[in-house]
Amino acid sequence: MSTAQRVLLADADAFYVAVARLTDPEGAGKARFLIVGGSSQQRGVVTSASYEARAFGVHSAMPMARAVRLCPEATVVPVPWEACAQKGREIGTVLRRFTPVVEQASSDEFYLDLSGTEELYRREPLAATARRMRDAVLAETSLALSIGGGTSKFVAKLAAGVAKPRPGGAADGVHVVAPGAEADFMLQFVLADIPLIGPKFQERLARFGLRTVRDVIRCDRETLAGWLGEREGTWLHERARGIDRTPVETNREAKSVSRDETFATDLDDDAALAARLLGLADRASAEVRESGLVARTVTVKLRDADFTTRQASRTLADAVQSDRAVYAVARELLTRLRAARRVPARLLGVALSQLVRAGGAGQLSLLESPGNTLETERDRVISRMIDEVREKFGPDALGRGGAR
Ligand SMILES: [Mg+2]
Repeated sequence: MSTAQRVLLADADAFYVAVARLTDPEGAGKARFLIVGGSSQQRGVVTSASYEARAFGVHSAMPMARAVRLCPEATVVPVPWEACAQKGREIGTVLRRFTPVVEQASSDEFYLDLSGTEELYRREPLAATARRMRDAVLAETSLALSIGGGTSKFVAKLAAGVAKPRPGGAADGVHVVAPGAEADFMLQFVLADIPLIGPKFQERLARFGLRTVRDVIRCDRETLAGWLGEREGTWLHERARGIDRTPVETNREAKSVSRDETFATDLDDDAALAARLLGLADRASAEVRESGLVARTVTVKLRDADFTTRQASRTLADAVQSDRAVYAVARELLTRLRAARRVPARLLGVALSQLVRAGGAGQLSLLESPGNTLETERDRVISRMIDEVREKFGPDALGRGGAR
């Protein structure tokens, strides 16, 4: 007999707004109608808005100019990225006191695996442990969490959404799905609620009459596999029943982050290589941002058709994390490598190293170094917005033109 996994997802409520209120730039601490994001009143997009501003129809990813029209009383402040990274680390520190197996999934989302801690917690129900965590984080960081629990990361994630307090709602910040109750729990959702089922996938599913979890439950695995292919059909069949076997993985502090691609056929066209490079730079920089880091060194690796491997690096005065800046440097390095030896390539890679904490020692303030034209605050804001949209709608949302 196997013991059920005990997984929690702890997710800060209105994180960017809450941190902006705590750090209080430009009177944000007292503003009821608060919008966080953009680069000014009229440019950029909304990262997050207070519940009061949301009541006016303001939501994340909306153009700032439109948000300000909908809610003209709103105070608009930039996202306090460094304070957010710092607060995220503080939340993680508190949570690690409850279990060492903590995976930080984004700046304000943490998966915890409490399997095997039943004796340690004297058989305390998982929901009670979650409430103690919530109280400890609130007391020590002034931030409120919603915590979902269940036998998998997937169920915990959806349960956290159910736990989230809404104006007029009854949720109290903790919702735990008991082992065996997963399939029942799933019946309340439409497929659009399921992570990684973005608008495109939804359209495809709708063509087979699949809009809700109940619609999927009526189909057997073979039918779904016939419609969607073996991989996606099986995936959907399992998720609709609340089945997920992805383990909670403790984050390791990476020394470098790299992405490479071996081509199906050797590539010799500069434009085609640049397109691949863009995709790689995009993916590597997204991971660096996800970890709350910035990189000082960019390296491009090229393996020629005859297996000769060559690389070129550049170390920057100011660390970067936006895909635009990483790509700009990588493009230069690729041009240099191609100029030195122009033969078809079989592999291309981008590595980011000399990683430091965003806002930490070793990173000069971008605003204080007018010589730095490589990466602007706007580049960072745009990159992080794209990360958020992808988090919601899946990795293929907002492709940036590069081959993936
Ligand atoms: Mg959150």
